[in-house]
Amino acid sequence: MKVLVINAGSSSLKYQLLDTGNQQVLAKGLCERIGIDGKFTYKAPGKDTVDAVDVPMPTHSEAIQAVLDALVDKANGVIASMGEIDAVGHRVVHGGETFAGSVRIDDRVMAALEACIPLAPLHNPANITGIRACQAVLGPGVPQVAVFDTAFHQTMPPVAYTYPLPYEYYEKDKVRRYGFHGTSHKYVSQRAAAMLGKPLESLKLISCHLGNGSSVTAIDGGKSVDTSMGFTPLAGLPMGTRSGDLDAGILEYLMGRYNLDIGEMLDILNKKSGVLGVSGVSSDFRDLGQAGEQGNRRAALAVDLFNYGVKKYIGAYAAAMGGVDAVIFTAGVGENSPEQRLAIASDLEFMGLKMDPAANNVRGKETVISTPDSKVKALLIPTNEELMIALDTAALA
Ligand code: AMP
Repeated sequence: MKVLVINAGSSSLKYQLLDTGNQQVLAKGLCERIGIDGKFTYKAPGKDTVDAVDVPMPTHSEAIQAVLDALVDKANGVIASMGEIDAVGHRVVHGGETFAGSVRIDDRVMAALEACIPLAPLHNPANITGIRACQAVLGPGVPQVAVFDTAFHQTMPPVAYTYPLPYEYYEKDKVRRYGFHGTSHKYVSQRAAAMLGKPLESLKLISCHLGNGSSVTAIDGGKSVDTSMGFTPLAGLPMGTRSGDLDAGILEYLMGRYNLDIGEMLDILNKKSGVLGVSGVSSDFRDLGQAGEQGNRRAALAVDLFNYGVKKYIGAYAAAMGGVDAVIFTAGVGENSPEQRLAIASDLEFMGLKMDPAANNVRGKETVISTPDSKVKALLIPTNEELMIALDTAALA
């Protein structure tokens, strides 16, 4: 089946056309600056690359049209006609408590997605716009599926998702832990079971998705039972620019001292904090590694406190599940930084995890990075959210 995977942001749209039969990517790319001017990028194996060329994109509809035009282009395309697209899978950030799995999109689902907007005011409107643009351009004959970042975590028990606030805020306002990166955590947990040659239902896993945004998830028997992100993706670990968890009393203190309103405070917590805030250098872990090596102590501290945060979650989730069979590293940092993986998983021999520095010296490839006698395995697993979305879409379409 040929599935077009769409990840729409407010002014950007990433796409991939995948063949779910052989799991190959036929083409992929990016539309940027939608609503401003429009830049289009397209890559397909064996074809000419189109790199950030000007294509007018007043709305997401023109962006989708540009994607389809490129896919069917006589010289550079990978399909003969739009009719070859069997289904479209959309990444949707927030499904609230309504969606515990992927769904085929119809009017009822669209209404429910609209109802979830208050939970993700920056992300869900863009996702909905992407869906409407595909409906407009491809017509009603092509099935469309929504795949949610939150859905995988809907299996968390109340003890993990309830905030210690007056309970009415949960009942009336749906304030609870939702968790994000669900598609990634689900994908790597399935791959971990395949790598270990054991049924997923028998495994206790800790999945560390460490990128610009980061989250750790406890997965017991294939189900998410706890995760570090919360009501929003601002919670949990310190990230590239996000603070992660902190004492709410700090907000009142800083807002009072610097006369900040809540919008300005949240801007600081979302965009100026995390490893960028601590280092003053960069949100990018490669830059921080270099600056640290050159003696920049704040850059080194930023990386250290991130690694320390991940280590604490591993300990906490092993305790929460009463054991762990494997710790998974994925996403930009998890896949590419042997140094950070080693720093995170060092000194965990007491709980049966022994890293193999030689095996760990690898990037972006499914590998067991713990020693052969390590009771708890450490696994490097490149994530593939697009493939997961395509497979869910094919199953539902
Ligand atoms: P992601 O959000 O998953 O794309 O991850 C982005 C993060 O991964 C950025 O902070 C990058 O610096 C980091 N990253 C990518 N490659 C490396 C690398 N070789 N070493 C350390 N961090 C890396």
